[in-house]
Amino acid sequence: MGKIRILDEDTISKISAGEVIDSPYSVVRELVDNSIDAGSTRIIVNVLEGGKKLIEVLDDGEGMDKEDLEKCYLRHSTSKIEKFDNIYSITTMGFRGEALASIAEVSELEIISKRRETNEGYKLSVKGGKFESLIPHPSKDGTTVKVKNLFFNMPPRREFLKSTTTEFKNILDIFIKKAIPLPQINFELYHNLKKELILPKTNSYLERIMSIFPEIKQLTYIKKTFEDMEIEILFSKPSVTRQTRNLQHIYVNSRFVESKTFLTAVSNAYSNLVPKGNFPIVFCFVKVDPSLIDVNIHPAKKEIKFKNEGKLFHYIISTIKEGLSESNQTLDIEESLKFNPIEQSIKSSLESFLKSKEKEYEIQKIKESKNQGNTLLTTLTPITTPENTYPPTSINKSEINQLQTRISQKYRFIGIAFKTYLIFEELGTDRLLILDQHASDERLTFSKLYKQIIENKSLSKQILISPITIEVSSICTNIVKEKIKTFEKLGFEIKIQDKLYIYTVPSFFSKNIDPTSSIIEICEKLQEGIEPSLENILEILSIISCRSSIKAGDIISPIEAYKLLEDVMSIEDKYSCPHGRPTMVYISKKTLEKIFSRK
Ligand code: ADP
Ligand code: MG
Repeated sequence: MGKIRILDEDTISKISAGEVIDSPYSVVRELVDNSIDAGSTRIIVNVLEGGKKLIEVLDDGEGMDKEDLEKCYLRHSTSKIEKFDNIYSITTMGFRGEALASIAEVSELEIISKRRETNEGYKLSVKGGKFESLIPHPSKDGTTVKVKNLFFNMPPRREFLKSTTTEFKNILDIFIKKAIPLPQINFELYHNLKKELILPKTNSYLERIMSIFPEIKQLTYIKKTFEDMEIEILFSKPSVTRQTRNLQHIYVNSRFVESKTFLTAVSNAYSNLVPKGNFPIVFCFVKVDPSLIDVNIHPAKKEIKFKNEGKLFHYIISTIKEGLSESNQTLDIEESLKFNPIEQSIKSSLESFLKSKEKEYEIQKIKESKNQGNTLLTTLTPITTPENTYPPTSINKSEINQLQTRISQKYRFIGIAFKTYLIFEELGTDRLLILDQHASDERLTFSKLYKQIIENKSLSKQILISPITIEVSSICTNIVKEKIKTFEKLGFEIKIQDKLYIYTVPSFFSKNIDPTSSIIEICEKLQEGIEPSLENILEILSIISCRSSIKAGDIISPIEAYKLLEDVMSIEDKYSCPHGRPTMVYISKKTLEKIFSRK
């Protein structure tokens, strides 16, 4: 007895219909959903040419018998609901009975399946929606669906398919989003017969995430049970952030959903802890009674509706906040210390500075193109002398003495507060100077690099004594492969094999810069489709300079404090870091007197 029924007209009319199949990745999404719904423990996805030639999904799930195979590719055929109201108790990914029908119409579809309790397997062939054959066929328990030549019967559609690389990138993305919330299922992905991602089954979200993104080193876990839902969150420290929201995911009953509410809740929970434009890593898994959500509002089920969205918002914020404070990561920032107006004025001065630099650069570029037709970053200056090997040496003794005499005439170093703020008394001016050690150092590194780009039109590189091997996600590897020239221009010579082998890094890198995170962050920028124009290089440089800088919390010696102050005072744009945060603030004696009611 088959499990599949055809839905009645009333139900059909209430189900939100829409285009479900528009590209290879949507086929992968629907087929993997079906394998998940079939209770599989192992799902293998095999694609050729970014899915344009073949998408094959194999599973060991409950399978279909002969009767099911006769119906499964027909419109509105499903085993998952009987009547419309069932969608409020649904626990499966699919329910509309449309996916196989849509796929069958636009491809050459073959399904081989066997139900566990039967002895015989069958093979169904449908081409362009037309039934071809259904014959006995040897099969293991489970189902194999092959989708060949997608849109073969719709030439304009086929022409609009993107490059193999882009289509595959989308497949990889959806595959990852299917695998993350279901660590108990073994997932495998092959492209052009090569392994892309093998994800062995595990009981932990964390292990699953780390096997996909080996570059994520640490996430904290918290689980909270509320009256109507359970929330599990894996989150990064505020100091571990990305340049995009790509690693902020929410899964509701194991389904990835796009949710503004979630993204806003995350920003809210981390507000004041991370600078603008930086995004912490957050994976949120919500388990909720299906009657409290509506999964029928979007044809591709990308969005869902919560009966009480506000509750979700507060639950997420409070869970993250609790997690952050439990792991001792919250900072107690008072309203008055947000520096908003100052930050604003500094930001606009930074912007006008960058604009004027940009103009200078434009003029220089025109001059140069007249002279030699040279463009930004086309020349590399490989430096291979032993002094430039990694890591470089630090300040010498006579320099220290000179520095001390120079600077101590103008400033008296008082000390370091909260391992972050260097406090100086400015002699002869009646004011205190407070320097944020991280922001200042960031500004310095950035200025150095900026000068190098403006003056030399190149970033020089240094050869590593022995190459560094790093393991990154396949998303990252693909980007490096695609943009290898850009990396070379930035000073990274990388060979790609099973891992990434780094042979050179930019000359300004010192021993405290981690090449792995720099490469990942550049990948993220490039993933946004950024081409290396001046502005974007500046952006990338600001990321790297942030990496290389003294972090808040690093203990520095008084002499290093003086050196930092002198260096930062010597640059033009000293009042803010490349992210627009202030590097220093002055507090006058008058302000202190006011506070203490002395005058
Ligand atoms: P839906 O998933 O919305 O029910 P589909 O068109 O995706 O609709 O699939 C139709 C039906 O075919 C499913 O309800 C299910 O019974 C059956 N089916 C599809 N794929 C599989 C599979 N991999 N294993 C077992 N049954 C499947
Ligand atoms: Mg389905």
